[in-house]
Amino acid sequence: MRIISLVFFCCTLLAQSHSTVAADNYFQILNTYHAVKLHLDKTPEAGKMKAASWLRLRNQTGKATNTIPVLLNPGLRISKITKGNKPLNFTQKIAGFEDWSTLELNTVSINLLTPLKNKGTIEITLYFEGNLQPLTASGMGYVKEYLSSEFTILRTENFSLPVISEPDQSSLGAAARLQNYSTRMTLELPEGYIPAGNLKIKETKLLNDRVEYDLKSDGKIPFTVIPIAPYRQLKNHSAVLNYFEDQITTATTLHQQSEKTLKLLEGWFMPPQAKKQLVITAIPEGYGSQRMPGLIIQDSATFAPENYNELYHELAHIWHPKERVSKPSRWNEGLATFLEGLISTHFNAEYDLANYKEELFQRAKKQLADMPKHADTPLQNYGEEDITDLAYLTGAVYFALLHESLGQERFITLLKELQNTYALTGIFNEDFSDFMRKNLKNRNLRKFADNWFSKGTIGQDLTNVNSFTDLMALYKQTSFQS
Ligand SMILES: [Zn+2]
Repeated sequence: MRIISLVFFCCTLLAQSHSTVAADNYFQILNTYHAVKLHLDKTPEAGKMKAASWLRLRNQTGKATNTIPVLLNPGLRISKITKGNKPLNFTQKIAGFEDWSTLELNTVSINLLTPLKNKGTIEITLYFEGNLQPLTASGMGYVKEYLSSEFTILRTENFSLPVISEPDQSSLGAAARLQNYSTRMTLELPEGYIPAGNLKIKETKLLNDRVEYDLKSDGKIPFTVIPIAPYRQLKNHSAVLNYFEDQITTATTLHQQSEKTLKLLEGWFMPPQAKKQLVITAIPEGYGSQRMPGLIIQDSATFAPENYNELYHELAHIWHPKERVSKPSRWNEGLATFLEGLISTHFNAEYDLANYKEELFQRAKKQLADMPKHADTPLQNYGEEDITDLAYLTGAVYFALLHESLGQERFITLLKELQNTYALTGIFNEDFSDFMRKNLKNRNLRKFADNWFSKGTIGQDLTNVNSFTDLMALYKQTSFQS
């Protein structure tokens, strides 16, 4: 399964709440600090977690409130909640959502002594303990973790840390979609276990057969995800690879390949402006591979070379300028998807790039045919219309056509210029379209770029032609013309 990078919550939850997310009313997490101790065990009931979560929140619900809603894994019970040093009253019960009855959680409601004004902020601390119960009955088949000594994971989807949301799909969707906060965690684990997620290990303290990790987010993050296992690690200046003991061969090769790929991309685009280390973490099969800025968590079964395109995709993202729009179109997903093929071509002489372009075209055509409502949507508006999934394919066709027309060298030069110009400032939609207007010298190619990015003829074009070659012809483009 391909899960989209930058999409903060699992696809299942997003899909579930997609149609109902109307208002962006939620409690915004400003920052958090968690102190967590884990006891891991082979049997689900024997695992145990003890935690305190301090949260600073802003009320963005649009009105004053006397209560704050919290959702936790059904295996976890709250013992105390405080504001300052004062205890707050609360209720908790295990219940399903009214509009998602199979998602049974510990549903908590905190009573505030004085109302929290709209836009007001509050600091609260929740003390809770228990175990983690799998949530497979909810339909999220991959959320099957418990506090196992083989593997476990702290993540939003299992509600192992407090999620501030009413027990309904639309609140949960907003709460999951809109967060961007900095976080710290003190995490105590049995010796030999490594927290291999999107919080950086700042300090490690050895206790008696236990280890205390001081973890910190690298700037603001949309969610916290921490796979935990007796990982082995490979490190170099560009990537940390966390793998399971029996994977040493595939892991070593993958790690070397990530190094080679970064060298290639540096050769193409210059060293990236912000040097960030990529973390790649293996998870057992069936727990949901996921990609996000700086982190790939991936089924250990897919560490094999035939899946290196996932690695190429994530590494390519390191160079992409940030889209400075509240609802980004994610044209860079299309670019990263196309670059998967271009990088594969570099490392594998037998790789058929022409075939990849054709395949992207056919998949884009098919996907858009299934979404006739969005046939006229230009790439730049994908974010506003919540169809960024489409950017992976139509965006990739967009860049494939530029590549086919310009040829390798001029295509790379164009991307290098684009990425370096906006590396520090980020990029607006207007910047992108202006850049292409200025830099594409061929009039017909310029027209194509404008039609697809700004004018929305994508659906029409994909309906009118039946192959990538025909699409080239439609815009009077021949391969590698000048
Ligand atoms: Zn991506």
